[in-house]
Amino acid sequence: MSLDALTADLRAFAAERGWEKFHRPKNLAMALAGEVGELVAELQWLTPEECESLTDAQRDAVGAEMADVLMYLTRLADVLGVDLETATRAKMARNAGRFPVPGPGEEASVVPVQA
Ligand SMILES: [Mg+2]
Repeated sequence: MSLDALTADLRAFAAERGWEKFHRPKNLAMALAGEVGELVAELQWLTPEECESLTDAQRDAVGAEMADVLMYLTRLADVLGVDLETATRAKMARNAGRFPVPGPGEEASVVPVQA
């Protein structure tokens, strides 16, 4: 799946339905947050072990919410003029500096290195 193609398809989907007036950045950000909540709700009462071995029905439900999240995120980026791939690559590069690969004998850590 190409992010550019998805962006174009979502833009067309919204335009065909006259949804541009609803797809304001604030609205899309709020819709995105709502969909993240729906994703979390699919997992919230499962044990960690159950989350790691979802049933097919659970995986389908989680996948549907992940798709909602991706669609709203992609649409929000389009409306704001954010190049998601460029922004993501830049953030990954920043994270590489904040979270260096552990050397031999060093413990893995999720604590960022202080700049
Ligand atoms: Mg949803």
